[in-house]
Formats: sequence, structure tokens, C-alpha cells
Amino acid sequence: MDPYEKVARLLLEHKNISAFTGAGISAESGIPTFRDPGGLWDQFDPDEFGTTGGLIQAALKKPALIRDFLLQMVDIFDRAKPNPGHYGLKSLEELGLLKTIITQNIDHLHQEAGNQRVIEVHGSLFRGRCLSCGRKQQLNKAELLARARKLLEDEEHFEVGKLAELLPRCPACNGVSRPDVVMFGEQVLQLPEAIAVAEQSDLMLVLGTSGVVYPAAAIPYQASERNAVIIEINPSGNYYDSICECYIDSPAGAAMPKIIDRLKDLL
Ligand code: NAD
Repeated sequence: MDPYEKVARLLLEHKNISAFTGAGISAESGIPTFRDPGGLWDQFDPDEFGTTGGLIQAALKKPALIRDFLLQMVDIFDRAKPNPGHYGLKSLEELGLLKTIITQNIDHLHQEAGNQRVIEVHGSLFRGRCLSCGRKQQLNKAELLARARKLLEDEEHFEVGKLAELLPRCPACNGVSRPDVVMFGEQVLQLPEAIAVAEQSDLMLVLGTSGVVYPAAAIPYQASERNAVIIEINPSGNYYDSICECYIDSPAGAAMPKIIDRLKDLL
């Protein structure tokens, strides 16, 4: 049977469907993954740019490099829009099939595509977390990126200290907020909720993850232990092959529209 039809049939046979996504689902939106060739870690040292301490050290010692890194980030996130992979998950939610997305991504693209229930285990770049009281606030993405670009593009007057101007004030206590993202070595967010979703799932779609960043990478195994059917979509390999019932060797943005088409034929 055509693998897309097989997935469509499996989706129709199950009731508690979740999706677990990683950087790969946003690759077709122009956001590089970390580990693929040409990915972020080919250009920037993860020990330096993936940890809070490393970033602070880099900012103090190599301000020009930090400016270059942040400008690239601003360009990438400014251009990134949801792609057919994200919209496919939105269609699954609209069809009443997909209950929850658990994402490792920090790019907010699932919400921009229109999905309502998204658990962001590694946080979001576009949310602030108050360093004093812990309150979270959703930030205006376009406004934040525009302010960051203005500051970073002013090479003549750029000073690392000015980056603090980008950190919003907490509406509750006026404390300084940091981006609500999980850096290497920091605690994953909403893990109990994500595990509960995994354990209640009878089918989990796994898209665009190499499954190496723990503890999040364990989530499909937790679903499988409770007998969920695991379907994986990834063009570079079947990273969950020991538990995977159906593997689709394709970019998510090409696979999801085919799955939705087959589903609509079957409905
Ligand atoms: P990863 O970089 O380790 O792996 C990405 C995976 O996506 C690879 O297995 C690759 O084969 C696959 N892939 C590439 N293009 C694809 C496509 N078009 N469709 C489907 N799959 C595709 O990413 P990871 O497993 O998510 O772990 C990296 C961590 O980095 C995550 O925890 C995440 O927080 C963070 N990250 C996030 C973003 C983002 O928010 N968009 C981007 C880079 C990294």
C-alpha cells in the first residue's frame, strides 16, 4: 500500500493522536536545523552559542561575532513562515484528528499555522520570562525583530550592553525578562504535561527530529511504551526505527499534503 495512504488509514483508526516535532519541520521555512550539514552548529560553536554562560562570555569577548550571530537569527526568523508541514498538522487538528503538538522548536510556527494546543518543551523565542517573579509574557514577534534589527544593523554605534534594551520589562513587577527558551543544561519546560500527552496518545506522528536532545527525545518512547503507534517522517533516516510502525522517507512539507489528500479521499 502507498505509505501515505497507510498513514491516512492509521490516523482514521485512532482517537488520541499527538505529534512530536523538531527542527526539521521548520527547515522548509528557512530555519536551519542544528545538526544537518550547513546547520547552525556548522557555523557557531554549540558550547558557546547554546548555553547562557557561553553566550554571555561570547558577548563580552567577541561582540562582533555575537552581532553577526544575532543578525543571522533576526534574518532567519523574520523570513520564516509556516510551511506545508505545519499546515498539514493544522489540517489534522481541524479534521478533529490531532489533539496536541509537542514541539522542541522555539520558533512559534505551529501557532502561526493555526494549531491551538502546542506544548513547547524547549520554550519560545517570542515569549519573555521575568527573572524576578517568573511571569511569562507573549511578545510581539514583528516588533521584537524590528527593534533587534535596528540595534544590530547600527554597526557604528553597536555595543553589546545595548542588547539589554531588547529584554522586555515584566508587566507585573517591572523586572527584566529573558527569552523563555531552554538553553543546553537548563530544565525542559512542561515536561510532565508532555509526558501525560504521550502516555495518553494511541498514535504519535514524529516529524523532523533526530531524537538526540534528551529528555525531550524520550517522548516517543514513552508513547510507544503505552502502545501508541509511532509514525516517523524524516528525509535523512528513521531515528525511532526500534518503535516505528511506519516510516516516511520525505521532507515533512512534501509528505503532509499527501497524507491530508489521502485522508480526504477516505473521509
Ligand atoms: P536536529 O537538528 O537534531 O535534527 C533535525 C532533524 O530534522 C534531522 O533528523 C533531519 O534529518 C530532519 N529534517 C531535516 N529537514 C527535514 C524536513 N524538511 N522534514 C522533516 N525532517 C527534516 O533537531 P532536533 O531533533 O529538533 O533537536 C535540536 C534542538 O534544537 C531542538 O531541541 C530544538 O529546540 C532546537 N532547534 C530549534 C529550531 C527551531 O525552532 N526551528 C531550529 C534548530 C534547532
